[in-house]
Amino acid sequence: MTSQRKPLIAAEQAPMAFFSPTYRRAVEASQHHAAHPGATWSEDDWRSRLSPMQYAVLRRGATEPAGSSPLLRERRAGLFVCAGCARPLFSSAAKFDSDSGWPSFSAALDHAVDEESDHSGDETRIEVHCHRCGSHLGHVFNDGPGPGGLRYCINGTALTFLPERR
Ligand SMILES: [Zn+2]
Repeated sequence: MTSQRKPLIAAEQAPMAFFSPTYRRAVEASQHHAAHPGATWSEDDWRSRLSPMQYAVLRRGATEPAGSSPLLRERRAGLFVCAGCARPLFSSAAKFDSDSGWPSFSAALDHAVDEESDHSGDETRIEVHCHRCGSHLGHVFNDGPGPGGLRYCINGTALTFLPERR
């Protein structure tokens, strides 16, 4: 281990290298669920585990009101994990202010999300789901900053923030 800190661009390419060894071990331990029990939960199970807003977004594909998420103002280093299954999805290293009213990221962690075309609105958009539990998170657009040019526009209620403790 030569350095605990790397430039942001490297953090996007190898997101976990951004964090201290202790924090990485804790997060990696949390990922050792091969399959999440949510795969077999009924809709009633999900409803009992989530707030009404979380249920509407994660399980019904709703969108939270713009500007409503406290995570818009979250500036600390850490990881944003799925509110449905706790899988780490986005690093604080990839978070940026988009002025869209929703938490925005230029990249997702490796194998964290699945993307599929959403034809529900006037225009076709790319919908983003949690890779582990399948919950709806938000959408991804091609107008983001950085070399990848992506903007993951994510409902804050679909995320739980785990700050890195130093
Ligand atoms: Zn999940």
